[in-house]
Amino acid sequence: MRQTLTVNINMQKYTVTTETGLFFRLGNLLAEQYPDKKVAVITDDTIKDIYEEHLVKQLDGAGIQWKLISLPPGEGSKSFDTLPKLYSILLDFQLTRGDVILAFGGGVIGDIAGFTAATFLRGVNLIQLPTTLMAMVDASIGGKNGANLKEGKNMAGTFYQPKEVLIDPGFVRTLPDEILDDGMAEVIKYGCAFDPDLFSDLIDRAEKGDGSGIESIIYRCCLIKKQVIEQDYQDYGVAMLLNFGHTLGHCIEDYYPDGTYTHGQAVAIGMYATTLAAEKRGLTASNTSALLKDLLIAYDLPYTLPENADLSKIVETVKRDKKRRGNTLNLVLLERIGKSYLYQLDKSDFVEFLKID
Ligand code: ADP
Ligand code: ZN
Repeated sequence: MRQTLTVNINMQKYTVTTETGLFFRLGNLLAEQYPDKKVAVITDDTIKDIYEEHLVKQLDGAGIQWKLISLPPGEGSKSFDTLPKLYSILLDFQLTRGDVILAFGGGVIGDIAGFTAATFLRGVNLIQLPTTLMAMVDASIGGKNGANLKEGKNMAGTFYQPKEVLIDPGFVRTLPDEILDDGMAEVIKYGCAFDPDLFSDLIDRAEKGDGSGIESIIYRCCLIKKQVIEQDYQDYGVAMLLNFGHTLGHCIEDYYPDGTYTHGQAVAIGMYATTLAAEKRGLTASNTSALLKDLLIAYDLPYTLPENADLSKIVETVKRDKKRRGNTLNLVLLERIGKSYLYQLDKSDFVEFLKID
């Protein structure tokens, strides 16, 4: 079923369309909405291997003048050094400001293609066509983009809203399980922090075990994200609640070598550890952490670090996190499932807070 919502940020409006099979009408959709415009598709080699044939059928079929630019998969392509290479290809293709960059991929592609669209010729039309669950429910909406510097991840980037976001939940069918579960962590986050009904539906869905209902789950996450970022698209207030599980999650990602934990796995551990500690301190309703733990297990996500992990060392990295302004942490806690709030804490007290015995 096709569902659309409108995001309205900073006087800029754009639609997010969720529809299984949308990819198979992409050619006509682009030809109608961007007549006679060139389209530069930025993707990665894995996605290209799976979907190039369909893409050719769609875009050639609609008579679009287009170019496929494919980067190696993985975080390495999000490097700042990728930008001049992309700019050269786009110049060569003679892409102008009225033309379109189509970001076709997961979070990495969404970020680097978004940054390219924001900065090439001071900004060209951007369409997000996310292919991972993570990118569908999170990264493709809100206009954040970024590139990694050698000094750190996402150290350069802008807020640049796309002209539209096209979500085809059908792409999740080709996702490896681990990457699908990674996105589920973010979906579970939305249920925990904002929507108790979403949380119960996730439990029911896991019990059924048939992977159904993903389309409506994605749409509901997009709706939550829209509502939150419309109030606060730069993360100064209510949007901080989107960071549930992320404070510790980012520490885990920073501490362990690349690839030990995916973003979603680190966030899953972050959500559980924070909720367990908050519950022990009477800051979260009792039994909340048990419900969360069961759901994480049902989606093959971890909920705890290995027993020998040195929590104080892991949490040390919180001090380097660029988003933690000053010495105070705005930790997201659950009042109960579906309702979150900010709890301020001195950075140096974070490790103590997390210790439960
Ligand atoms: P995210 O940050 O959204 O998890 P990435 O851009 O790092 O995503 O993508 C994760 C991996 O999944 C990459 O190797 C990418 O090539 C691959 N991938 C993305 N979308 C699909 C898909 N629909 N089917 C199969 N593999 C995909
Ligand atoms: Zn996240």
